[in-house]
Amino acid sequence: MSAPLTIIGSGMAGLGLARQVRARDAHRPITVITADSGDEYAKPLLSTGFAKHLSPDRLANRSALDIADQQEIVMRTHTRATSIDSLHRQVQLGNESVSFSELVLATGAAPQPPFALPNELADRVFTINDLDDYRAFHAALNALDRAARVAIIGAGLVGCEFANDLVAGGHAVSLIAPEQAPLPRLLPEPLGHALGEAFMDAGIHLLLGHGLQSLHREGVDIMATLDDGHCLSADLILVATGLSPRTELARTAGIAIDSSGIQTDRYLQTSVPGIHALGDGACVAGVNAMYVQPLQASAKALAATLSGTPTRVSYGPWPVLVKTPALPVVSLPPTHAPDRWRVEGEGHDLTALAESKDGRLIGFALTGACVRRKVELARAAPALLG
Ligand SMILES: Cc1cc2nc3c(=O)[nH]c(=O)nc-3n(C[C@H](O)[C@H](O)[C@H](O)COP(=O)(O)OP(=O)(O)OC[C@H]3O[C@@H](n4cnc5c(N)ncnc54)[C@H](O)[C@@H]3O)c2cc1C
Repeated sequence: MSAPLTIIGSGMAGLGLARQVRARDAHRPITVITADSGDEYAKPLLSTGFAKHLSPDRLANRSALDIADQQEIVMRTHTRATSIDSLHRQVQLGNESVSFSELVLATGAAPQPPFALPNELADRVFTINDLDDYRAFHAALNALDRAARVAIIGAGLVGCEFANDLVAGGHAVSLIAPEQAPLPRLLPEPLGHALGEAFMDAGIHLLLGHGLQSLHREGVDIMATLDDGHCLSADLILVATGLSPRTELARTAGIAIDSSGIQTDRYLQTSVPGIHALGDGACVAGVNAMYVQPLQASAKALAATLSGTPTRVSYGPWPVLVKTPALPVVSLPPTHAPDRWRVEGEGHDLTALAESKDGRLIGFALTGACVRRKVELARAAPALLG
């Protein structure tokens, strides 16, 4: 029988890997240790649920109990791994030690607020990065019993998707960010401005060019003060200022980490033999993609490796589809600064091609009707990890 496998984390990476390994070996002992409920859900759908007034339970596909039954795996839910002793092959779960043979870290990434969020505002200030967060925000919206005034801090993918989703759900949304246009890491400015205009047409109040300075309670409202002194009152604040890979646990094991994640090679092997990593927490051969397709490719390759067929992972030229129905957006951001962006099109239907010095396509961004060019351009673009 193959060595028992221990996976820490039950997100799409951890559960995806457990399924792939089980499909290859019906008898291998698999244990998933997870800090959350272990319920299976598609994280990308968190930012599409408020327009449809979906309850958190509708977003969960399967309970941890069902997964354990169907896949014949041990699910240790609401259990946080606190440290790893790589020499003695043990994971510490608070006061309990469990031995491991093969270990996989699928611990994801955590929200990175611009400053420590005040505890006394915890009932009004949120981040949404998992189903429990969605549950808490959903309850706060419902408690108001009317359309809410929501201020969203951060205009990246997560902030923009929630802005679009909440305004479509009937709420009054303000979007605050220091950049001049939404989606600064995915779109060159002309396309960002097109999205900004579409957001304004949809009723989103844009407050761009200003960072958040402080939050405080004033009567029943939360006041957000921006760095130009501008004040905005809201019922709820949603902080969407980016994610940072969870590397703390790996650090306790002496595994090589840096700000881009747990370092692995193309076999998802960390610097400590017998410990692998994948998903949002892992930086694979210098790339931390933080999207679903790379983690699915990683789960498939790692399952093969752990089953005795060493397999290098490859990431294709996979564009990101941003879920902003106010203006559809597709982006394949270049991995390094392009020599120029060539922008074509009219109105909100724009194509931007990122080109290197020698005229090669190294990335692209599309808005509106131009998103239909996604497949054609992806074929011409370089793979993220070829
Ligand atoms: C709102 C939103 C929309 C998105 N939309 C898209 C999209 O449209 N397309 C796309 O490709 N990507 C999208 N993404 C990104 C994508 O969802 C993530 O890349 C993916 O879900 C990450 O999965 P993961 O398993 O690596 O991490 P996570 O889902 O974060 O899972 C980490 C797991 O580790 C557990 N854990 C962490 N630390 C410990 C510990 N010490 N002990 C035990 N357990 C621990 C957690 O409890 C959790 O179960 C979106 C993300 C968000 C937030």
